[in-house]
Amino acid sequence: MPLLPGAGRGRGLLARLGARGSAGRADAYDVAVVGAGIVGLAAARALLLRRPGLRLAVLEKEAGVARHQTGHNSGVIHSGLYYAPGSLRARLCVRGAALLYAYCERRGVPVRRCGKLVVAAARAELPRLRALYERGLRNGVPGLRLLAPADIRAREPHCRGLQALWCPGTGSVDYGRVAAALAEDLARAGAAVLTGFELRGLRLAPELPGAPLLLLPARGPALRARCAVACAGLQADRVARLSGGSAQPAIVPFRGDYLRLRPERAHLVRGHIYPVPDPALPFLGAHLTPRVDGSVWLGPSAVLAWKREGYGRLDFSARDAWQALRHSGVLRLARAHLAAGLGELHRALWLPAAVRQLRRLVPELAVADVARGPSGVRAQALAPSGHLLDDFVFEGGAGPLGARVLHVRNAPSPAATAALAIGEVIADEAQRRFGL
Ligand SMILES: Cc1cc2nc3c(=O)[nH]c(=O)nc-3n(C[C@H](O)[C@H](O)[C@H](O)COP(=O)(O)OP(=O)(O)OC[C@H]3O[C@@H](n4cnc5c(N)ncnc54)[C@H](O)[C@@H]3O)c2cc1C
Repeated sequence: MPLLPGAGRGRGLLARLGARGSAGRADAYDVAVVGAGIVGLAAARALLLRRPGLRLAVLEKEAGVARHQTGHNSGVIHSGLYYAPGSLRARLCVRGAALLYAYCERRGVPVRRCGKLVVAAARAELPRLRALYERGLRNGVPGLRLLAPADIRAREPHCRGLQALWCPGTGSVDYGRVAAALAEDLARAGAAVLTGFELRGLRLAPELPGAPLLLLPARGPALRARCAVACAGLQADRVARLSGGSAQPAIVPFRGDYLRLRPERAHLVRGHIYPVPDPALPFLGAHLTPRVDGSVWLGPSAVLAWKREGYGRLDFSARDAWQALRHSGVLRLARAHLAAGLGELHRALWLPAAVRQLRRLVPELAVADVARGPSGVRAQALAPSGHLLDDFVFEGGAGPLGARVLHVRNAPSPAATAALAIGEVIADEAQRRFGL
């Protein structure tokens, strides 16, 4: 079913997904979107929904879409529980989840709407659970309920807790499949999805009226556009520098390693099971996550990564490690969370410690039930003060070059859930700035 107005009437600009499609290039585009993660693809879709005739190209350095955060995450459709009321994250997560469920249904992308329990395992966590409940209500998260221990057991027979928050809207999806569906829609609507295009430079060529922005790839000819929207995830700060943007906030990569529950023990978990998050810490805490394919992942950990796009345990990039270590905010962040950081590192390295933590929620879990699983790397914007930027950040550049580029500088979790709503905000902003 065509999803975008004009779908099926494509102008033949499509580059085959998975292959560099220079044959499909127009001379000049109205908009170039940099990055074929879920945010870039959703932004491109939102722009085309508003302006079906727009000449639009998505430029991706990898050989396919969703090769980084979008394809290496927990696959949770978040409900919007955690985020400060009034923040973009709160608003766009609630709207984005609703849009995502509807999109997946229309496009036949499988989802599993299994709900989630946030479980207080100790008395000290009860006031924080209550505060989370109230925050969820303020954010407009539907269907929230506080459960007593007997109700917890009724929902999750293997989970134990003093009280839990039931959140029926949480689900699971494979974001790689959502991204593939978005890319197909774009192609059908006549956009070009050009893979193998690594943006290395941006220049203005005023002698080329109409589309004076030159996007210079690592190899091959430049591409011309009127304006660009950069959704470069783990490379967001470096891409922002290309248009004269500030070095801050810099991206600091945080590794997340998962464990997998052995299939014969998958019955231990029915829906998502999360601990009560510590508001002093930036991430949600290790959780038990049923995937849409029926497997169960545990984790992820949260430790500084030595490589931004490295998914092997020993992956190391001298450039990435050096940039992280000389960032003044990293030292401040490490000092502020020293004990928690060392605990995370211990659990990331020592499997029994990771299982012990999860056993607070599911006491039957044993070390023999789990095996090491895949990894992801989070792009997290960090201020020099050591403060992790909570909210989504969109920023234009300075000067005539910067004025033609809009950068997404921070799109941490739940940006996959929120992507379709983030796309709308980016489209609003791009239309306002660039007069599209
Ligand atoms: C471990 C982990 C678990 C998570 N769990 C969840 C979850 O359960 N639910 C949720 O909602 N969110 C989750 N997130 C967050 C979510 O995955 C991200 O917020 C979201 O995927 C961000 O999408 P993106 O498009 O901004 O970035 P990405 O998916 O990283 O895409 C950026 C793209 O830009 C491309 N690019 C970069 N530089 C260039 C260049 N110079 N030229 C061309 N292309 C370039 C990259 O190759 C990449 O394809 C998780 C993240 C991680 C890492």
